[in-house]
Amino acid sequence: MTKPSENRYEMVVGLETHVELKTRTKAFCGCENRYGAPPNTLVCPVCLGLPGTLPVLNRRAMELAALAGFALNCRVNPASSFDRKNFFYPDLPKAYQITQFFHPLCEAGFVEIPVKEGVKRIGITRIHVEEDAGKLLHDRPGVTAIDLNRCGVPLIEIVTEPDFRAPEEASAYLKKLRAILSAAGVSDCRMNEGSLRCDVNLSLRRPGQPMGIRTEMKNLNSFQSVERAIRAEYARQAAILDAGGAVLQETLRFDQRTGKTIVMRRKESTGDYRYFPEPDLPPVAFPAEELERLRASLPMLPDEKCALFQQKYGLSRKAAELLTEEAWLAAYYEQAAVHARSCTALANLLLGEVFAQLTLREPPGTERNETSLPIPPDRLAALSNLLSEGRVNSSTGKKILAVLFDEDVEPEAYAREHGLFLLTDESVLRQAAAQALQENPALTEGYLRGKLTVEKALMGKAMALTGGRADPEVLSRLVHEALTALAAFQK
Ligand code: ADP
Ligand code: MG
Ligand code: ZN
Repeated sequence: MTKPSENRYEMVVGLETHVELKTRTKAFCGCENRYGAPPNTLVCPVCLGLPGTLPVLNRRAMELAALAGFALNCRVNPASSFDRKNFFYPDLPKAYQITQFFHPLCEAGFVEIPVKEGVKRIGITRIHVEEDAGKLLHDRPGVTAIDLNRCGVPLIEIVTEPDFRAPEEASAYLKKLRAILSAAGVSDCRMNEGSLRCDVNLSLRRPGQPMGIRTEMKNLNSFQSVERAIRAEYARQAAILDAGGAVLQETLRFDQRTGKTIVMRRKESTGDYRYFPEPDLPPVAFPAEELERLRASLPMLPDEKCALFQQKYGLSRKAAELLTEEAWLAAYYEQAAVHARSCTALANLLLGEVFAQLTLREPPGTERNETSLPIPPDRLAALSNLLSEGRVNSSTGKKILAVLFDEDVEPEAYAREHGLFLLTDESVLRQAAAQALQENPALTEGYLRGKLTVEKALMGKAMALTGGRADPEVLSRLVHEALTALAAFQK
């Protein structure tokens, strides 16, 4: 629904995105960095914040953060350092977070996102490295429990310029970010597991005016909730401004259930955190050669891969974009394409029927990853080949695909065993056409009385007689011939 205020205010949005780094161990101790372990089993005195412990920096975390910087077109600083951000929260036992405030690792990058008019560049202000906090669990009645496994997991925070003007731009950016960072091997970027989550800063202004007061919505963890939160907060602020009020600089929570934003607290300002340089960690140095080595080690990123897919496999831009939107999907397609006789047919099958059937099989809103598709790539290619070579028709192809989801079978062998290959033998199909006419006298007579549309129904009957395996073109021609012959005979 379009509100009257919809076009009077321009939205200005900047995103702060937290991404967990794919390291083996945590940022400042040797505890394993792993999602899903039983609560409080991946902890030690360092990440529990016990007095007298000292952090030791995980070098791999810094390397992954530098890779992220290169992948997002940033300047990666040869010198950076850590600071303490002081605040109390029950999931933060040290009562401070180690982060990079004064000298972040990466600055001044950009990400290009697809928009209606073509491509839009979103500025990256900075990327800094910090540690994650634990998690409060509200899953048992009457109590709040705490899991500190996530304490000290290495994160990067990616801060954008206030460059977004529409909710779709924000989700397009996050999709692109996920594609880039997962391709670069920096993070697995699973929003449902919290390894990629996003804070939305939003203000309104009249076009041409300076930026207004912004609010911040915390910890959105799906593309859809980011878009919904932006729309809801736009409406809330517009209503305040329409009524002549002023927006306050506040921190909000987006309630998934009601679709509304709720004020949590007045937004803290920098001074509240009493930042100071972390005395227990030396500055981080990256010699130029090492930065060069890291930059050179970056694998191919989605934009380049998208161009390659169009050129190498002859795909449309849209198909190439969709296939390179997620690193696991691009890798899957490439493995399958090795065995495919038609790469475009393979892409159509994968993006079309495979995803359609997958969607029906998973709970709504499921985030996909390399474990989502249980069909080995070469097997999907084999099915694609049966289809593209016309050895099975599309409805049989769908049936075989459904079997591939559940059973460990080869498409070719399965089709042979169950007699599913396309029937093209004209004598067999002519027989089926004749039988369909004979067994359905009402339809046939209808046709002879001039009801030509029943031809389709008779085609369906004939197809059924072949167990759905007939070559549809040949069969429909033969049904038509049988009907016209009958009509001529009647005259
Ligand atoms: P903080 O760390 O206190 O949240 P920053 O100044 O680092 O504040 O900004 C955080 C994010 O807010 C950035 O993405 C920035 O682009 C965005 N931002 C800053 N001012 C505004 C504004 N007036 N309207 C919308 N977004 C803004
Ligand atoms: Mg912020
Ligand atoms: Zn630890």
